[in-house]
Amino acid sequence: MGFSTHPQTFDLMIIGGGVIGSSIAYHLANDGFDGRIAVFEKDPTYEKASTVLSVGGIRRQFSTEVNIRICQYSLSFYREFSERMEVDGERPEIDFKPRGYLFLGNEKNWPLLMNHQVFQRSLGVETQLLTLEETLRIIPDLYPGDLIGSSFSPGDGYMDPHSTLQGFIKKAKHLGVNYLYQEVVEIFREGNRLEGVRTKNGTKYLSSLIVNAAGPYAGEVGKMVGVEIPVVPVRRMVYLVRPPRPFEYDLPLTIDPSGVYFLHETGRQILTGKSRKDEPIGFNFSWDRQYFQEEIWPSLAHRLPLLNELRLISGWAGLYEVNQWDFNGIIGKHPEIKGFFMAVGFSGHGFQQAPAVGKALSELIRLGRYETVDVTPLGYERILEGRKVLEEEVI
Ligand SMILES: Cc1cc2nc3c(=O)[nH]c(=O)nc-3n(C[C@H](O)[C@H](O)[C@H](O)COP(=O)(O)OP(=O)(O)OC[C@H]3O[C@@H](n4cnc5c(N)ncnc54)[C@H](O)[C@@H]3O)c2cc1C
Repeated sequence: MGFSTHPQTFDLMIIGGGVIGSSIAYHLANDGFDGRIAVFEKDPTYEKASTVLSVGGIRRQFSTEVNIRICQYSLSFYREFSERMEVDGERPEIDFKPRGYLFLGNEKNWPLLMNHQVFQRSLGVETQLLTLEETLRIIPDLYPGDLIGSSFSPGDGYMDPHSTLQGFIKKAKHLGVNYLYQEVVEIFREGNRLEGVRTKNGTKYLSSLIVNAAGPYAGEVGKMVGVEIPVVPVRRMVYLVRPPRPFEYDLPLTIDPSGVYFLHETGRQILTGKSRKDEPIGFNFSWDRQYFQEEIWPSLAHRLPLLNELRLISGWAGLYEVNQWDFNGIIGKHPEIKGFFMAVGFSGHGFQQAPAVGKALSELIRLGRYETVDVTPLGYERILEGRKVLEEEVI
């Protein structure tokens, strides 16, 4: 692959400069991709990007090997993130809190947690099944009445997604990646080959390699190439609450059997949320208190009775990029359209998977194969062939 010198010609273009697109760009540049890379990002503020609106959690407690392998690589990457992203002696602070993920178990989900724990341990994840007493040692304020125990993965945790994204971008730029703050509105395709894109201001950019990393807009980008990508935007709301007295210990990212999750935010405030099953598809960024009052608070206060009294400080809404096919990422190249790659549809676990996804696409694009993490099971082919990757631990 030779260097192209025309300013409007690139060797590879990535549509979407969120954590996925930026990780791909960083990995390619860092791994020695021989060519000019452009990342197209329509919103330089990232105000509505899923990455910055996420809660920044990473766990290895999945039920499929591919998701576990992805998160094992990503966790070790995030642990060394500051060093890896150093630019001119400056290291980004992502405030990684390795407090673990804690899945609480009741009669209904306990058998599943037990099975998953055995499987996770067989792949080297140190997930522990904790008794009620052990669980209460981690969260003494928990109401244990209807619980059996919990599944705990120490070392997992959560971090600041905004600083993480900025760390990737700064390093990618330092390594020579071009960020173009423009919206791609058209992709030029000739037969089964790609030729380039046109942006909203009418400029044409040429490249035969294009990566779709457009997050919740991945389906729209797919349409520009004439490819159906079953990824849709679905709103998820997050709430910030203040307890009447602070918990004097660190909360792991905890998932209640009701689906409500909670974790610590700075100042010992608590972030909480729950995926709404009947949330309509759409680009909806408004958040409301009613869902908190009706759906979240009752379960939250049941589990943490102290939170019968609390102050709802604020909230926000972001978009899951839901893969309607099987709620897992779609990673790899299109089998028929030459040069069309994608890393989309992560359905609520894309932030944590970004490092491994970036590495995988870097290898696929440079070497034509996966070497570090084999993400073949998540290829687009599975949709064409009618196969699903059934992940039982989707939050
Ligand atoms: C409330 C909430 C909580 C979450 N919590 C977690 C969590 O704890 N852990 C976890 O792993 N994941 C979590 N997620 C999911 C995670 O945020 C996403 O999976 C991940 O951020 C996807 O990254 P992305 O780069 O694909 O998407 P984005 O961050 O949305 O980036 C895509 C970018 O593409 C740009 N773009 C789109 N179309 C175009 C175009 N045509 N031209 C130019 N630019 C374009 C957009 O402007 C956007 O900036 C959460 C999500 C939400 C909403």
